Amino acid sequence: MQCPYCGKEMEEGLTQNPQEIAWLRGTKRPLLGRAKFHDGSVVLSELSVMKSSAVTAYLCRECKKVLIDYSKEISDFNAR
Ligand SMILES: [Zn+2]
Repeated sequence: MQCPYCGKEMEEGLTQNPQEIAWLRGTKRPLLGRAKFHDGSVVLSELSVMKSSAVTAYLCRECKKVLIDYSKEISDFNAR
């Protein structure tokens, strides 16, 4: 994965959480609740009580960016 900012190769890794990992619309932190209750949300890794949630993420240390490509089903460790 090439960094879209500087063009250098990004490091492959993951980000994980004991809850689901999701993107939520807006700039204010909403009240707690699953992403499915928030209009326009995108679940990046489904909630798994046994395994927690994890999604593949790419890091550019120089630009201090983390990129998650959720177009690939294999990005969600719980979808594998
Ligand atoms: Zn970069």
